[in-house]
Amino acid sequence: MHLLEACYIYPDPPHYGKLPPMTNTTSMATKAVWAGEQDLLLTGATTVPISLGVAHGYADVDTWREVALGEKPGYIYARNTNPTVAAFEQKIGALENAESVTSFATGMAAISNMFFALLKPGQRVVSAKDTYGGTNLLFLHFLPRWGIEVALCDTTDVAEIEREVAKGCDLLYLETPTNPTLKVQPIAQLAVVAHRHGAVVAVDNTFATPINQNPLALGADLVIHSATKFLGGHADAMGGVLCGKRDLVQQVFHFREINGATLDPMSAYLLLRGMKTLHLRIRQQNENAMHIARWLEKQPQVAVVNYPGLESHPQHDIAAEQMRGFGGMLSFALKGGFEAVKQVLPRLQLMHRAANLGAVETVGGPPATTSHVECSAEERAAMGIPEGLIRYSAGIEDVDDLIADLDQALGGA
Ligand SMILES: *Cc1c(COP(=O)(O)O)cnc(C)c1O
Repeated sequence: MHLLEACYIYPDPPHYGKLPPMTNTTSMATKAVWAGEQDLLLTGATTVPISLGVAHGYADVDTWREVALGEKPGYIYARNTNPTVAAFEQKIGALENAESVTSFATGMAAISNMFFALLKPGQRVVSAKDTYGGTNLLFLHFLPRWGIEVALCDTTDVAEIEREVAKGCDLLYLETPTNPTLKVQPIAQLAVVAHRHGAVVAVDNTFATPINQNPLALGADLVIHSATKFLGGHADAMGGVLCGKRDLVQQVFHFREINGATLDPMSAYLLLRGMKTLHLRIRQQNENAMHIARWLEKQPQVAVVNYPGLESHPQHDIAAEQMRGFGGMLSFALKGGFEAVKQVLPRLQLMHRAANLGAVETVGGPPATTSHVECSAEERAAMGIPEGLIRYSAGIEDVDDLIADLDQALGGA
């Protein structure tokens, strides 16, 4: 065989949309480690390669054309698909039990591509006031400019959401639990109402992760992740994903391959490697956050603790019904307000003070510098975000060490 021919022969390559032979009953842990990788372990390699090639070549023009038209699996140009990116897509698709998956350069690219690919002028979106800051800006400033009406409801007022859906709804967009106050919305109940009115249901599952919550199994049509957070888990790569109904994901994929918000192979590799320990990290983060939330509730300096796993959480019952674990995110308000936050945060030793979450290291900060930096103090107050609030993303450290650190930092607050 000539060397040139050998270059063009590869084992039936994985392709956008094709999921690995994992079933709905394969456990999360096994999927996190194995899913999406089989077809890419070329030449006996035991690790997915970082495939940096921009284009894939074809000796045979007919095959090239068939692949280009999507009639045959394969790769053409890395803005459309790439082997390392495909492995990442298949792994997250397996964890969400999705028909189809596509990926993006960031979580915000996933969210904005979904809106702009699925919606058209004259349509109506129903969502909540407490969505992620960037998503909220799409609702307030960008979608209306394209003639799309947006109704933002009180996040936990299910009756109000149902009323707005009944007035006309093409897309119901949920995020649960929310950032930074950990409000919870009943996915299954709202999906039934939205479907009755012909709406597509999309859920941002970034905070819960597929280990704790599977929105598709609860009736959603689409699920979104900022892979930058828990999926990657190491704060070293950005990415986004959209999983769900094939025709909807295809529509968004076709928009993304043209507008170019593609996930790059280096990031895909880092995210894929991070996801191999997703189940272990989330198990530890669920446990750490629960312990810390219970401990914080007993501290005299703390006015309120927001964590869906606490019996005191207003939507604890809904959370217990739709989540397998309550996640690594919590927030708590100091009685001393923003002045107390400014004193306590610098004293914490086991915490990065940064605008990120979901990493193996504990990360935290006030909404005024993280999730709601673009809002005024008055706007934050109107959204029910006290100035004394600290968002806390529990890492995988020893929980006794984390509590000892919080204890010394809170002293005197
Ligand atoms: C971070 C985040 C996003 C945006 O993701 P990027 O990767 O930063 O673009 C969307 N939703 C939630 C809930 C997030 O935490």
